[in-house]
Amino acid sequence: MIRSPRAPLLVFHNGTAVLPDKLLADAVVVCKNGRITSVGHARKLPPGATLVDAKGGYIAPGFVDIHVHGGDGADFMDGTAEAVRTACRAHARHGTTTIFPTTTTGSPAQLFAMLKACAEVQRSGAVADGASVAGVHFYGPYFAPDKVGCHSQAGRRDPEAREYRRHFDTGIIRIATCAAELPGAEAFYREATRRGCLVTCGHSNARWAEMARALRAGMRHVDHFWCAMSSVASLRLRYGTPMQASMEQFVLAHEAMSTEVIADGCHLSAELLEFAYRQLGPRRLCLVTDANRALDMPPGRYRFGCGTDGEWIESDGRVGFVPGGGALASSVVGLDTMIRNMKAMTSASLPEVIRMASLTPAERAGVAAEVGSLARGKRADVLVLSRKLLVKQVFLRGENIAA
Ligand SMILES: [Zn+2]
Ligand SMILES: [Zn+2]
Repeated sequence: MIRSPRAPLLVFHNGTAVLPDKLLADAVVVCKNGRITSVGHARKLPPGATLVDAKGGYIAPGFVDIHVHGGDGADFMDGTAEAVRTACRAHARHGTTTIFPTTTTGSPAQLFAMLKACAEVQRSGAVADGASVAGVHFYGPYFAPDKVGCHSQAGRRDPEAREYRRHFDTGIIRIATCAAELPGAEAFYREATRRGCLVTCGHSNARWAEMARALRAGMRHVDHFWCAMSSVASLRLRYGTPMQASMEQFVLAHEAMSTEVIADGCHLSAELLEFAYRQLGPRRLCLVTDANRALDMPPGRYRFGCGTDGEWIESDGRVGFVPGGGALASSVVGLDTMIRNMKAMTSASLPEVIRMASLTPAERAGVAAEVGSLARGKRADVLVLSRKLLVKQVFLRGENIAA
């Protein structure tokens, strides 16, 4: 008779579990073989289990980041598996357990190298690689010429079917961005929808009619709300009067649309974060880092995007910015900072704040059956947070990575 090895049993206790709609005090979360098997109240702890004492803090689901460029000196656009691993490990230390590496503008070859590197890390799938790659967010290069932001202008172009079909064929793209006003945008949205992606409009100066066409073609999300997107004022510059409704009004007016905020306290003020939360609610608003390679690095100059020819940006340790000009250039902090800010700066409850960094992005990106909440059957991606929401321990598929 072959005796099966003893199933590794992991039990989180002595903490408050953060569920999508409520807090569960004195909770016990049981995991077996890398999956959550039960979430309930304190009872007799199963014998032989490895116990994780939350020490009166919170037991929370691992975070899901759908918009992130890099960390710890590496940008996903560096295009090597080692760069992907370095950034994924850095974000795991900040509580992100599921990650969608995000492209910048760049040449077709640079984009292809990035997709290949992410696919390689996804295939090896080791817990030691940090946050697990659920898919790539194909973000650059299809930005509007007047909304390129800190990305390289030379790497921007209009969507071209021959190029993006080849990228989609890698099978790793799960989120796809394009500015709605570009020629060929609708065909891109239709292709991305057909491939099962969350389809998003970003770095765009689109007006209402362009957004309406995009919605019909499958677009359902807008990248970093209020950043590099149209406003009533920007459309007045583009079209004159009468003033027109922008991406902002379009998202607020359509239940089918979701968006995301960079809650680092530098990009958006407290009242804008509160406004977004109140108007959209925790089911349509995601927290993202949009972090660049300067995360966990000293203040200084860094390349945004590919390490060889990406644009120079500067980090002061709080945020990235364009040298000299003062325009912001993505964040340098993790999702743990974003949840602490969102809790401190808005009236959202803790379950709502955590939902915006876990279940909501998981739902929008189509991975909620696997990750995003403490629920039976999902991956044992579990965080132990202190009462002040500092990350104390990180478990990826039941393995402690912070130890
Ligand atoms: Zn951006
Ligand atoms: Zn970005």
